[in-house]
Amino acid sequence: MSKILIIEDERHLAEGLRFNLEGEGDRVTLAASGEAGLALFLAAPSDYDLIVLDVMLPGKDGFAVAAELRQAHHYVPILMLTARGRAEDVLRGFAAGADDYLPKPFELSILRARIGGLLRRKRWQQSPPEAAEVYDFEGRHVDFSKLELSVGDRRLPLTLMEANLLRHLIRHRGQVVSRKAMLEEVWGLKEATDTRAIDNFVVRLRKYIEDDPKRPRHLLTVRGIGYRFVPEPAS
Ligand code: CA
Repeated sequence: MSKILIIEDERHLAEGLRFNLEGEGDRVTLAASGEAGLALFLAAPSDYDLIVLDVMLPGKDGFAVAAELRQAHHYVPILMLTARGRAEDVLRGFAAGADDYLPKPFELSILRARIGGLLRRKRWQQSPPEAAEVYDFEGRHVDFSKLELSVGDRRLPLTLMEANLLRHLIRHRGQVVSRKAMLEEVWGLKEATDTRAIDNFVVRLRKYIEDDPKRPRHLLTVRGIGYRFVPEPAS
C-alpha cells in the first residue's frame, strides 16, 4: 500500500483518481489547492510516499508547491500533471523539483505505471548499497543511489533530475553534449522547445560541484552548442 497525496482542483478528476487508486489498495488524500496540499504534507511528511501535483491550481500553482517542498528539504517523489503540448511546463516542473510528469488528459494505466516507477526508484534508493552507483572526481563524491553529492563534509541532496543530468554528463565526460541531446536523453523530450531551461539546471549543478560557480572548471559551456564535463581539469 502506498500513501499518495493528490493536489488537484478539478474535483471530478481528483475523485476519480482516488476511487481508482484506492481500488488498487493505495491510501489517497485529496487537496484542492496548493496551499491546502502543502499544509497537509508539512503537518505529517511521513504520511505520504508520493505527491501527484497538478500544475494549474488556484492560488499557489504546482511549480510553487514543488519549489517550496524542495526548499524545505522534503524529497518526496513528485509526479506533476501538465497541460499537453507545453514542453516549457515540463521543464519548469523539473526545475522546480518534480521527478516525473504526465500530460493531461492521461490514461489511468499510465498514471499507475508512473507512480509505480517513482515508488520503485524511491525504494531502490533506500535499499542497501549493493546497487550503489558512485562516481568520484577531484574530492567530490556522487552517490546516485542515494541521490547525494558530498564535497568534504558537506552533503547535498540531488533531485532525481539533477542526478540524471549529472550522470548523463559524467557518462559523456570530455565530450561536448548538446542541449538538444540532453533534452532527449535526460528528459525524454523530443519536441522543439526552449532549451535554455537546461541552463538553469546547469547553474544549479555548478553551485554544487564548482568551487567558484562563476568560473566553472568541471562543467564548461560550449558556446552555441551545450556543455562539457571535465572531471580532472589540467589547471
Ligand atoms: Ca487544475
